[in-house]
Amino acid sequence: MRVLFASSEIYPYVKTGGLGDVAGALPQALLRQGIDVRLLLPGYPEIMSKLSDRRVIGKLAELEEYDAQIIMGKLDNGLISYVIDAPHFYNRASPYGYEGGKDWPDNYLRFAAMGFAARDIVQKHKSWVPDIVHGHDWQCGMIPVYLKEFIKRSCPKTIMTFHNMAYQGLFPYAALPALKIPATLFSPEGIEFYGQIGFLKAGLQYADALTTVSPTYALEIQEPDMGCGLDGLLRHRHRDLTGILNGVDTAIWNPEQDPFLVKNYSVESPGGKQENKRALLEELDLQLVPKKPVFVVISRLVPQKGLDLLPQAARVVLERGAGLVILGTGDAALEEELRNLELRWPGQVSVRLEYNEALAHRIIAGADCVIIPSRFEPCGLVQMYGLRYGTIPLVRRTGGLVDSVVGEGKKMDGFIFDDADPLDLALCLLKAYEAYKKPAQWSAMQKRGMAKDVSWDASAMHYKQLYNRLAGR
Ligand code: ADP
Repeated sequence: MRVLFASSEIYPYVKTGGLGDVAGALPQALLRQGIDVRLLLPGYPEIMSKLSDRRVIGKLAELEEYDAQIIMGKLDNGLISYVIDAPHFYNRASPYGYEGGKDWPDNYLRFAAMGFAARDIVQKHKSWVPDIVHGHDWQCGMIPVYLKEFIKRSCPKTIMTFHNMAYQGLFPYAALPALKIPATLFSPEGIEFYGQIGFLKAGLQYADALTTVSPTYALEIQEPDMGCGLDGLLRHRHRDLTGILNGVDTAIWNPEQDPFLVKNYSVESPGGKQENKRALLEELDLQLVPKKPVFVVISRLVPQKGLDLLPQAARVVLERGAGLVILGTGDAALEEELRNLELRWPGQVSVRLEYNEALAHRIIAGADCVIIPSRFEPCGLVQMYGLRYGTIPLVRRTGGLVDSVVGEGKKMDGFIFDDADPLDLALCLLKAYEAYKKPAQWSAMQKRGMAKDVSWDASAMHYKQLYNRLAGR
């Protein structure tokens, strides 16, 4: 089974969120399942510099004036990769846009290129023809369109996985000629989305199979309030839609071997966690009364993540002496509001407005409880890191959070609240605070979480089954 796995980001080279983590880990897990996976990636400098054994596969005719070509090589993660070498498009400060959240204006061409390249690989690189082309998110949404429009015989099957319906890759009609597709495709049955070109819509319309990153999210997005205008199309295609829960890269997120920790620990010998807590408090200059829990957040600071609920809700535990650590970047107004918490509760609250991978590891290891109050959450990874590190997740009842955390009963390994409302979050924080006072119960929850299988192997198995089904095997 040959699979061309296309993604616009990949850990550890380029990552803006969960997609990067998935693309970094899932192909490796698929290889372990015996699948012959190759990657298709944009040629960001971070990727070009890690590519060895290079060989030019061909030029992209549509991007001739930019001298764009496909290079095949081996990334230093061991995977054979096709990379779009086009410095004009990818040699930029960040993958999708510039400061202040503005998209690069030529994103339609930068990512239509993923479609041009996928088609050329299938058509011209005869020594390795994929059975399946598996693309992710709107950046790969045009891949099924170019394959289906231009390859009439023996077209590989296509899968579109979307990690967040809120990011749709919408572009003005004026971009259509540059995409080099028949103008008739610009229709509601094609790539049009309310008068614009929709790359995610295109993928959902054209791919043979659709997947998203948790079973609960797969259901939620078929409803108007979560479907971001595409719920009708998803209801129409519900038979082709599956939710497959993401996993965690257990080589990177493993408290037994994590090089960022002051002391490694495991479910059998959990003692080291306390040392990480002490070190974290010291690093962040927090002075807590002994035996108080530390709550943490590691997140993009955007409305989706529900962190605007936190300043009001967190008071109930801060008044009782708990600690709060926030690591994130995003909306300026929210950053300011969270900063104010630090001023209001000196020695108890630490807010770090930065992206810091190493600190994220130390925070997860040193904390007692990780808060994820998302309004919606397609899958979410941070709650799974929490489970693995004995840092109990406190989450809102939505999407993948529901599919990965058990909030009650004998298998309880986290806390779940229902409403995106500061009061509901506050009550849940209080519940966690009280539970922390009962060490036996707390440690039983930690152990259940740490023993849970959140690795990629189970997910990779589901993808393999889907590949086999699509390829008729
Ligand atoms: P999303 O993809 O919506 O951002 P996920 O929970 O799926 O949410 O993935 C977020 C990823 O980004 C996790 O790996 C998390 O640790 C990481 N992350 C988010 N913010 C930061 C930050 N400020 N510093 C370090 N890592 C971060």
